Order: sequence, then C-alpha cells, then structure tokens
Amino acid sequence: MRDFIQRALTKLNKLTPEQMQDLLISAAAEIDRMETVLDSLNEGVMVCDAQHRLVMANKFAERFLPQNREHENDQIWTLIKDDHIREFLCQTLVSGDRVEEKEFDVEFKAKQRLLSFSVLPLVRNHQVSGSLVYVEDITEKRGKEARLRRAENLASLTTLAAGVAHEIKNPLGSLSIHIQLIQKAVAGNQLSELDKYIGVVNEEIDRLNRIVVDFLFAVRPMDLEPREGDINALIAELVEFVRYELDEAHIGCVMDLGENLPPIDFDERYMKQALLNLIKNAIAAMDGGGTLTITTGFNDAEIQISVRDTGVGISEENLPKIFEPYFTTKPTGTGLGLTLVFKIVREHQGDLNVKSREGEGTDFVITLPIPQRETRLLAFGNSGGQYAV
Ligand code: ADP
Ligand code: MG
Repeated sequence: MRDFIQRALTKLNKLTPEQMQDLLISAAAEIDRMETVLDSLNEGVMVCDAQHRLVMANKFAERFLPQNREHENDQIWTLIKDDHIREFLCQTLVSGDRVEEKEFDVEFKAKQRLLSFSVLPLVRNHQVSGSLVYVEDITEKRGKEARLRRAENLASLTTLAAGVAHEIKNPLGSLSIHIQLIQKAVAGNQLSELDKYIGVVNEEIDRLNRIVVDFLFAVRPMDLEPREGDINALIAELVEFVRYELDEAHIGCVMDLGENLPPIDFDERYMKQALLNLIKNAIAAMDGGGTLTITTGFNDAEIQISVRDTGVGISEENLPKIFEPYFTTKPTGTGLGLTLVFKIVREHQGDLNVKSREGEGTDFVITLPIPQRETRLLAFGNSGGQYAV
C-alpha cells in the first residue's frame, strides 16, 4: 500500500479527480484496517515521534491516558499521572534506551494490577524516528504462574508422602516384632529380656519421630520474611559458627567474597539454613580433611554463591538423585537436606546447581535474582474506567 501511494505521489499532478478519490478511499480503508487490528489487541500500543510526542494510541492504551488531552504537543510522559511510570518513560525515552518488561504495580478499582512496560526505539533508515511504548497487563499471567507453582508443590508433596510411607515401614515392622517379643517374655516370665526389647522400642519410636519431624519441616509452607540484607555478612557469620567443626575435621576454609555485592531481599533464617546444609554436606564429604571454598559474585541479573569442597564427590549415577527427598548415602542421613535447600532457593526465585566429580569434589551454586522491578501501591485519581497511571 505504501509503495502504491508513493508511486501515486510522484505523479500527483497527472491524476484525475476520480483517481485521486479512489486513492484516498483505499488509503482510508487501509488506515481503518490497521486501527481495527490495533484496537482489538489486549495490549496497549503507543507511538511517539522523535520529540516524544504521542502520535497514536490504541484503545487499550487509552485507558492509561487522560480522556481530555489539552496539550497534544506535550511529551508523552506529561500525560501520565503516576510519578514512577512518568519518570521511567521520561528517562527511557530521553536516553533512547530499549527497555523491556519493566513492571509496575498499580491499583485499579481497588484491585492490584501488574503492568509491564516496554519501550522500543523505532528506527528507520538508521535514524530514530520515534518510539513504541508497549503495555501489557500481566496480572492474570502471574496468577497462572503462581497456580502452576502450587501444582508443582503438590506433586513434590506426593513424592514426599510416598517417601514417608516407605521410611516408616521399617521402624513400624520392628516395633511390631519387639512388642510381640515383649508379650512373649511377659507371658514366659523372662523379665531379664524386657530391658533390651523396650530399648529397641524406644529407639524405633525416636526414629519415627525424626521422620515425621523432618517431613513436616520439608513440607511446611515457608513463611518467608524477606528483608534487604548482605549475603557476604551472613556467610562470614556462618563460617564462624562452624569454625570449630572445620578445625576438628582438618578442613581449611577459603572465603572469596565479591566486593560491592548488591543488597538483595532474602529471609535470613531460611537462607542461613540452606547455606548451613550445604556447608555440613561439604564437611561430611571431606572425611580426611580438605578445603571448603565459599565464593560470591554477581552480574546484572543475579548473585551467585558457590560452596565448593575437595571431598569424595558424587557419582554420575547418584547425581540426578541427590535432590530427591530421602535420598542419602549416609548411614544416619535423612536425605532431606538438599530437598530443603532446593525448596528454600526456589522460594527466593533462585536456582540451585551442582557440579561434581567423584574423588575430586563438589561445587553447589545458588543463584539469586537481583530485583529489577518496582513494586508499589499507587494513589489514583477517580477517572471512571481508566487505569489512570
Ligand atoms: P543427607 O546429608 O542427609 O544424606 P542431603 O539431601 O543433604 O541428605 O544429601 C543427599 C546426598 O547427596 C548425600 O547423602 C550425599 O550422598 C550427597 N551429597 C550431598 N552433598 C554432597 C557433597 N558436598 N559431596 C558429596 N556428596 C554429597
Ligand atoms: Mg545433608
């Protein structure tokens, strides 16, 4: 269509009034079609010119804009009521940066909505001719993700429950046998044997109790109370806490803590527990001594914490199983340590990875996202069906 109009423009003076009319009609129909497409979108599209003035907004985007716009020549951010979004648009547009999916919480008709803003420079013939501001309401999408996570949790709960059922079978069997033995001893008046049997019964009850307590600990919903904190300080504190154990086991500790680590939000109790579990596993893997190395670092998006040992390592066969509840290679292990570490890290939107080589050592790496989004409550003007950001 554009080519056709451009060709027509070159010979404008040769066109008959009828041809001119046809041309205008088809151009209007084309614009109409474009508008219908844009208006049927469930996302907001706003186009600005090189001076950042709003030149087009689709129906969805109109919800963010004042209904009566008096100063059409003003820059787009002056139309936005909310300080944070206004500042974001002003900064991004003036700098000419491309920013994708910056999230803002807004309140709309007493409900929280989550909006995602993207700003993309429009480039034609190697020149910036304006920008596109793209707005998405991602509230439902986020809700769906949360529901999916809950379903995942439920699935892991089933695995855990199956694990518990398996774990309690042995102590229950043993209890049943020893109670029968006690009954026989009482009936045959062999009271000297009783002490031994009752001792076993007590031990088995302890074991059952530990299984149930650990299980509850692993499945209990985490009431995370994240606060801004310093991961390096937490690690230094933990290492002091296990210092005696390290010395006893002839394990040297190297702390290579990255400088200027950005502060992040985390729940100190749980994060301590996660790191302590990794450290304890590392200590257990270095029976004949070794070196524990804890490293922290970061990039734009995340903080990395590595807990590395020079211990026995994990066989290729066992590596895929270590995060499974109740998987343990230790005689008195619970097999719930890494399950818990994984859960804590996931609750912090982070990730847990492991590299290991048998006979050489193991490296567990926790990554935690550096928050990129501003979460706030906004004060709103009363403007009918508008989001009024
Ligand atoms: P537990 O420590 O009770 O056995 P975990 O869930 O903490 O349970 O660990 C599961 C298994 O993973 C351990 O039994 C061990 O085989 C393996 N593992 C974990 N950490 C290490 C490590 N640092 N080095 C070698 N093996 C490890
Ligand atoms: Mg453990």
